[in-house]
Amino acid sequence: MEKGYPYTLKKLIEFLSTLPGIGEKSAQRLSLYLLSKPELCEILGDLIKELPYKVRLCKECKNLSEDELCEICKERERDRTKLCIVESPMHLFQIEKTGLYRGYYYVLHYLLSPKEGFGPKALGLDTLLKIIEEREIKEVILALSPTLSGEATASYIAELLKDYPLTISKLACGIPMGMEIHFADPLTLKSALQKRESIKRGNFYE
Ligand SMILES: [Zn+2]
Repeated sequence: MEKGYPYTLKKLIEFLSTLPGIGEKSAQRLSLYLLSKPELCEILGDLIKELPYKVRLCKECKNLSEDELCEICKERERDRTKLCIVESPMHLFQIEKTGLYRGYYYVLHYLLSPKEGFGPKALGLDTLLKIIEEREIKEVILALSPTLSGEATASYIAELLKDYPLTISKLACGIPMGMEIHFADPLTLKSALQKRESIKRGNFYE
């Protein structure tokens, strides 16, 4: 970086620019903002320092947690026969926000991606199978993104579970709310058409 900023500020800008979604300009803006808020620097510094020591994976679902069990696994009144498989804690959080799902989760943290070197082992499927058997899961919901890796992972898991006495479902894939149909790509439109939902059932002529 060019001259103009003192060393420590320059270093902070450099580090912040390495974070996902933060370019050099945003890093400069954030750093200058932090400089004007000494208290915030103190709190942020402590939180960042503690983060890797305090947060770990839940021993049941592999969600992030500060205790052995995450907040969701601690809730005993959820439906123990349903298991929703997600790629990341962020996706779990989004599904929780809908308030529609009252089962438990399993977080993969990876998707199958031979290019990046993530094979079936990276997914920790032994633990998943153990949970399915022990809890006698009746429905597995594959809530994985409809990307190449997401689809490959969903197919792999579905194949692995094919002989288990359970229902396997996956999220419907269609046109996002607020999007006009002519902006949807052909695959999305095809999927939306295949998974169309009925809004009125016909009383057919006899
Ligand atoms: Zn958990």
